[in-house]
Amino acid sequence: MSDHNCIFCKIIAGQIPCLKIYENDRILAFLDIGPVSEGHTLVVPKKHTTCVDQTDPEIMSEIGKVLPALAASIREAMGADGYNVLCNNGASAGQVVEHMHVHIIPRKVNDGVFNQWPSFQYPDGKAAAIAEKIQQNLTL
Ligand code: 5GP
Ligand code: ZN
Repeated sequence: MSDHNCIFCKIIAGQIPCLKIYENDRILAFLDIGPVSEGHTLVVPKKHTTCVDQTDPEIMSEIGKVLPALAASIREAMGADGYNVLCNNGASAGQVVEHMHVHIIPRKVNDGVFNQWPSFQYPDGKAAAIAEKIQQNLTL
């Protein structure tokens, strides 16, 4: 259920304080202590899990259910033009806290928080081969 070394499990257990935004029996949302922008909020499942592919789809769906209202309240409260919803999975993707969490990061035009999304072009045929490989691994 919880990991004794996990900082978010300690927050969920009330052993470490947080600025709570929302809570239900499965989900907690609280302000990030090191925000990228004012109002930066984290949404976490109360049951410890490391990343999206290790998380019960029911829990992901609970997170999905609360995201629209959370995003709307954050956007309104911060006077944001938009927001990023993102989730880092694994150290290579920038995950530091190994308890699955979704970031909601309010954004304003020209805020300079993230600039260009890196992108490239697939060489001929590669995209189709990759799509097929991913489909072959899909368990849905
Ligand atoms: P990650 O890089 O793992 O996706 O993001 C972890 C986030 O957790 C960071 O944005 C960091 O500021 C936040 N964080 C780490 N420790 C604490 C804490 O003790 N309290 C709160 N509220 N946020 C934390
Ligand atoms: Zn945890």
